[in-house]
Amino acid sequence: MSLKGKKTVVCGAGGFIGGHLVKSLLADGVDVVRAVDIKPLDEWYQVSPGVENLVLDLKDKDSCYRSADGTELVFQLAADMGGMGFIENNKALCMLSVLTTTHMLLAARDAGVKRFFYSSSACVYNGDKQKVAEVTPLKEEDAYPALPEDGYGWEKLFSERMCRHFEEDFGLQCRVARFHNVYGPHGTWTGGREKAPAAICRKVLEAKLAGKHEIEIWGDGKQTRSFMYIDDCLKGTKAILESDIREPINLGSSELVTINQLVDIVEDIAGIKLNRRYDLSAPKGVNGRNSDNTKIKEYLGWEPSIRLRDGMEKTYTWIEKEMLALAHA
Ligand code: NAD
Repeated sequence: MSLKGKKTVVCGAGGFIGGHLVKSLLADGVDVVRAVDIKPLDEWYQVSPGVENLVLDLKDKDSCYRSADGTELVFQLAADMGGMGFIENNKALCMLSVLTTTHMLLAARDAGVKRFFYSSSACVYNGDKQKVAEVTPLKEEDAYPALPEDGYGWEKLFSERMCRHFEEDFGLQCRVARFHNVYGPHGTWTGGREKAPAAICRKVLEAKLAGKHEIEIWGDGKQTRSFMYIDDCLKGTKAILESDIREPINLGSSELVTINQLVDIVEDIAGIKLNRRYDLSAPKGVNGRNSDNTKIKEYLGWEPSIRLRDGMEKTYTWIEKEMLALAHA
């Protein structure tokens, strides 16, 4: 199925991925009729003109019916989320996003929507499979037996199953991608919800600007992760929605790095070396996590491939501009 010309709503459009997605869909000739987010419009990361930009709380059922009305495609990205610092300390808030996805699914079903995209997460994976830094990349079946990240991961896993049963029982065509750590410009980089790539860029920049050559790292820096640049995320999201993939599928990079290596990259971009202070009591998540991309390669003949160094350079440059603009405001 081609997205082109389809009447579309993007939920969570004021956020990082949603804002990019609206722009990218418009550029592809998709008829984005509506973009929705709970944040006041002046707090949206990106606002696209020519779209009905609505400020609504999608936990509320009526707001979901208003949002889905007259659309053929729904991208459900709205969720209360953030990096480890946020999700470890706000489990109830994270789980409340179940209302958003549930009500959007009902609204999509009743509006006769053709396809529903749900952004799940690598946080659905069984924690026992992520205990060591030298982790075996996670295959889709590793989500079961279920032992996901408490709060946020349980909500994602439950919502994945809601999508599955809406398809089986009501015929609503659902596509589910498990995003692995997405980063890039126009993402959260301060305020407590930021994730490691943006947080490290900000900390390195703060140290550089203050001339104080020290950085605090959460955990021992040996934990491993993979990070997907936003352009790969957008390409994969659109391809998955267009595809016949009827099971949750990994959408992530398989370029594994330790957090220390991520700091090395940012230091190299910034042209400085910092003394590292490790905060072993800070939230750090699982010890190791990587994406097994066998399935996406089979289905799409493609996997996210933008090098971390290249994506981080763009992210660092954008955060630097934001920080300097804020300092001069
Ligand atoms: P984000 O926080 O930047 O965007 C999410 C948006 O949803 C926010 O703008 C928020 O205001 C909005 N929202 C929250 N509750 C809402 C509600 N009740 N009604 C309307 N809008 C609401 O996050 P993001 O990084 O753009 O993530 C988008 C989606 O992808 C989320 O579902 C997230 O769980 C998922 N995801 C992201 C990553 C990542 O690394 N960024 C990884 C895995 C999964």
